[in-house]
Amino acid sequence: MENIPSVKKLDQTVVNRIAAGEVIQRPSNALKELIENSLDAGSTQIQILVKDGGLKVLQIQDDGHGIRKEDMTIVCERFTTSKLNSFSDLTSISTHGFRGEALASISHVAHVTITTKTADSPCAYRALYADGKLVPVKPGQSADPKACAGNNGTQITAEDLFFNTPTRLKALKSTSDEYNRILDIVTRYAIHNAGVSFTCRKQGAKMADVQTSKGASIVDNIKQLYGSVASELLHVQETLDTLNVKVNGYISNANYSMKRMTMLLFINHRSVDSYAIKRAIESVYSTLLPKGGYPFVYLDLEIDPKNVDVNVHPTKKEVHFLNQDKIIESLIDMFEETLKNANDSRTFYVQT
Ligand code: ADP
Ligand code: MG
Repeated sequence: MENIPSVKKLDQTVVNRIAAGEVIQRPSNALKELIENSLDAGSTQIQILVKDGGLKVLQIQDDGHGIRKEDMTIVCERFTTSKLNSFSDLTSISTHGFRGEALASISHVAHVTITTKTADSPCAYRALYADGKLVPVKPGQSADPKACAGNNGTQITAEDLFFNTPTRLKALKSTSDEYNRILDIVTRYAIHNAGVSFTCRKQGAKMADVQTSKGASIVDNIKQLYGSVASELLHVQETLDTLNVKVNGYISNANYSMKRMTMLLFINHRSVDSYAIKRAIESVYSTLLPKGGYPFVYLDLEIDPKNVDVNVHPTKKEVHFLNQDKIIESLIDMFEETLKNANDSRTFYVQT
């Protein structure tokens, strides 16, 4: 009997690290969570700095409401959040986050430094985290947040991502691939969040790779980041009363096509994928565009939180929602009508 392995409970640090690896699979996942936190904090300016595809350094600076000094002790612990009090809140949640897992997860797979200042605090505080807990900067020192100079808002730096999970690190192809994924996420959020200025640059680079300004509209942002397609866009906007859905979007006209479909889809302000929606839109355009040509689509859906499954996995990428088929049918009608009207009048284009 002695070669039957005995059942043992895993060490808590190992458990946390495994769980963290499911939430944070690559630098761009971490960044998405950090951007959503900055937006939840009411920021109007978000600056991102990246080194080695985010594996060496991933830093985000915002001008949001900051974190109170007394909360700094627990912000990186698992299931600590300022956004959800009870289970019933889940049906009316309006913030991006609510599970309180992002910072905890990041701190299990990276060295995290938070510098933050609330408007009513005379100074900023800085703290270092590992495995969800405050840790001293140097051994022997106190781990308590230290007073320092700083502007209102929060700066979070994750360094040496996946240093303690070598297999995860190996699975990532290249730092330039990771950087492209980071740019993709920043681009999406920058376009959607008109009114918030975003910048993203590589450490040491003079020029930002993504830059939008506070006063810019969604179409301005599309022009800034995607160029000429911005003058080929049609506006779709409608409230589907019976389905409790608000639709707002900018879609390329039938005279425009690109080699790959670009779909920027937001459901309740979160960037998500929906294979079903993508396929439906593709089919609308397939009869209009030359073979091998695809549209540009920015689509913003606001669905009653009751009808979206918010209790999904934290990566929250592919979503499912109630009345999906009916909503997609309405979208198809809306797209077809808009494209047809534009073709009839040819004067309907968005001004840029
Ligand atoms: P969640 O967003 O699900 O609440 P997180 O782990 O992402 O969980 O963040 C934990 C908490 O830390 C948040 O609820 C919020 O109170 C605080 N926090 C995180 N990032 C910021 C930020 N940029 N500005 C202000 N508060 C923040
Ligand atoms: Mg969050």
